[in-house]
Amino acid sequence: MPCSICLHGHFYQPPRENPWLEEVEIQESAAPWHDWNERISEECYGPNSAARIFDDAGWIRRIVNNYSRISFNFGPTLLSWMERKRPQYYQAVLEADRLGSARFSGHGPAIAQAYNHMILPLANRRDKITQIVWGIEDFQKRFQRAPEGMWLPECAVDSETLDILAEHGIRFVILAPRQAQAVREKGASSWTDVTGERVDTHRAYICPLRSGRALSLFFYQGELAQKVAFGDALRNGGDFAKMLIGALPESATLGRLVSVATDGETFGHHHKYGDMALAYCLDIIERSRSASLTIFGEYLDSTPSVDEVRIVENSSWSCVHGVGRWKEDCGCSAHSRPGWNQRWRGPLREALDTLRDAAAPLFEREAASLFPDPWGARNRYIEVFFDHTRSE
Ligand SMILES: [Zn+2]
Repeated sequence: MPCSICLHGHFYQPPRENPWLEEVEIQESAAPWHDWNERISEECYGPNSAARIFDDAGWIRRIVNNYSRISFNFGPTLLSWMERKRPQYYQAVLEADRLGSARFSGHGPAIAQAYNHMILPLANRRDKITQIVWGIEDFQKRFQRAPEGMWLPECAVDSETLDILAEHGIRFVILAPRQAQAVREKGASSWTDVTGERVDTHRAYICPLRSGRALSLFFYQGELAQKVAFGDALRNGGDFAKMLIGALPESATLGRLVSVATDGETFGHHHKYGDMALAYCLDIIERSRSASLTIFGEYLDSTPSVDEVRIVENSSWSCVHGVGRWKEDCGCSAHSRPGWNQRWRGPLREALDTLRDAAAPLFEREAASLFPDPWGARNRYIEVFFDHTRSE
């Protein structure tokens, strides 16, 4: 029984430019490279654009653009750095969307991202809209088409965010399995609780929203994603392919999906030569009779979602405390030291929210003399980013 496999890579680095110079300064920890953007480019972004596939004798058999065979998103601010500093990789990413579109029935593999990697459930409605509008506009400008999906930073989600996405024409988002609350078959009256990663990830769901709008949700396979990101799945491309193809239960009916989403930097930066393991794995799947590669947009056309899902409000992929990691001392920490704590998170966020709420009325009052619609003007300010030199 053929199964469809979709790998998603979320490629992102925070903007490292000095805001006054608009250049990244030397970062000694990234030596021998100038800074971390450059280092990760040479370990991951570049290698994935021209990944080598070896034969058994150790000769290079093919060189492939991995991005054209997976689903992916790049943070807009990272792309604007790459456009200037690594134009050959940047062009390869744009080219991958065109190549992928030919491979996947007219669906490009690139999806958009909320512009600044903001944790959207913690933003107010107005800021959510700006982040989503800027993400869509930036995508259209670069990829010359409308995005079908949008990556939510840290997969952080609430219903208001989904509703704004649907309102702006976004068709689907990808979430972690623990973010599914309950499911029900089309037309059924009662919901089945699927918390604790019990959701069936081999299909897409419709998420109905209070406004009457809806969009499709995919839940990637959590266990596989863990093995790719933190385990040894990338040690051997052949075994990686076997693991993906074998992930579908024997009893699965036609049209089921195996999807995995991880940070894109997993392939080459976090795991050395992960780009080559990925290329080899994709090559095997492409030539396999028991599986085929797909991307989310193509999958939705062939197997439209009918069953419904509810999300766990204010959840994310990286913090079991929902979005606690970005607002309180939830216990999640990347580099904890004995005796340290992160109680500062609460007052820091409170201070920034207070500043936002105090600045907003001033902005409205002052900007009203210049623009008929000040917040609309902010949404269109993305056009200024496209061309810093424009003076009129
Ligand atoms: Zn946490």
